Amino acid sequence: MQSRQQQATVLRVVPEKRTHAYLILDRTIFHPKGGGQPSDRGTIHSPTYDLTVKKAIYYRGVVVHWGKLVRGNPTQGEATNELDWEYRYLVMRRHTAAHLLDHCLAEASSNQVQTTDSWLDDPCYVGYAGDSPSPEVLRKTEGLANQIIGAGGKVRIELLTPEQGKVFLQGAPNYERLPDLSEIRTVTIEGCQPIPCGGTHVSDVREIVKVSVVRAEQMPTQSYRLHFSVEANASGV
Ligand SMILES: [Zn+2]
Repeated sequence: MQSRQQQATVLRVVPEKRTHAYLILDRTIFHPKGGGQPSDRGTIHSPTYDLTVKKAIYYRGVVVHWGKLVRGNPTQGEATNELDWEYRYLVMRRHTAAHLLDHCLAEASSNQVQTTDSWLDDPCYVGYAGDSPSPEVLRKTEGLANQIIGAGGKVRIELLTPEQGKVFLQGAPNYERLPDLSEIRTVTIEGCQPIPCGGTHVSDVREIVKVSVVRAEQMPTQSYRLHFSVEANASGV
């Protein structure tokens, strides 16, 4: 289970007007915006203040939390950071579903797919190179994905060296977009190819409950967006 709450030390506070502030902590469970994954939301609080975190931004090697003051004024020292778990869990389920769709779209179209981008807030989509697939391929993709979700499968996170990456990640939907890294974090859905990814995921595809392919939107840049949604009613484990 991923932590929803953590004790930390606030190292730096930069107020913004009287209503907002930027905070840097010695550790954090807030996932910053990146790789198509929206920033976590939540609160940072102590006995003397409450800050609603609106955004976590990765800036020059640190995560900066920006939020609205609800009570008191943040100070350096001990604090609790706490995720808006409902939202985080939805993003985790969407993120794992997005990679499952990569796999199922490749299967349904009998072709390798290449991702261009993705966004997992609203709108929620994965972008792929090429032309929109036929409605038949979209239906097949959705069907395959729900079959895998129904059967259940573990989702594994691993770190690979660049050499291992060359062997295991060839043809992965976003391999060509990777920067040079000393280690490559990968996510593997049981039965699917490992995918390089820095995001947060559920531990079993069953947690997605159900995925719906909403539509394919053709973009002017020889690519299309596959809009999708996951079943709304799922509670975190
Ligand atoms: Zn990912």
